[in-house]
Amino acid sequence: MKALIVVDMQNDFIDGSLAVPGAAEIIVPIQNYIGDLAERWGDEYPLIAFTACAHPADHCSFKEQGGPWPAHCVVGTKGRRLQPGLEAMSYGGCMLFEKGSDSDKEEYSALYEGSPLHDWLKGDAHTENPVTELEICGLARDYCVQATADAAVALGYKVTILEHLCRAVGR
Ligand SMILES: [Zn+2]
Repeated sequence: MKALIVVDMQNDFIDGSLAVPGAAEIIVPIQNYIGDLAERWGDEYPLIAFTACAHPADHCSFKEQGGPWPAHCVVGTKGRRLQPGLEAMSYGGCMLFEKGSDSDKEEYSALYEGSPLHDWLKGDAHTENPVTELEICGLARDYCVQATADAAVALGYKVTILEHLCRAVGR
């Protein structure tokens, strides 16, 4: 069984405090990809997981705390929310998995051994037909998408990064 992971398509990464170059260009293509997924996979309710940075205001990755990034995706702000067009696409198969919720811990990947995302993919709902294959898209290609893909490979998933549905921080 397959699942799609849409990484960090949040307002702050699109046009907010940590905007990824070209991020707005992939919104509609991701919407279209999701729209076609049922037909593409031959599965009426394809499994889709959205991940989201959900940081406290004093998160260790912020410059103010000595980290590399401007403050972003702070819980309770508009920047933390998913891009509205994608947020509106949720339906039965979609789930949201937050990461980076502890002040002192950076989490580029929401997927790791024991994570709610891994448990969901392998969990009770799909025990008879667990997810073995992941497609991954979103932001940023060189950080959270890469980290998610690396974690997925380490956990034994077959992974495809949808390069045309990603944008990177670096050039
Ligand atoms: Zn973050």
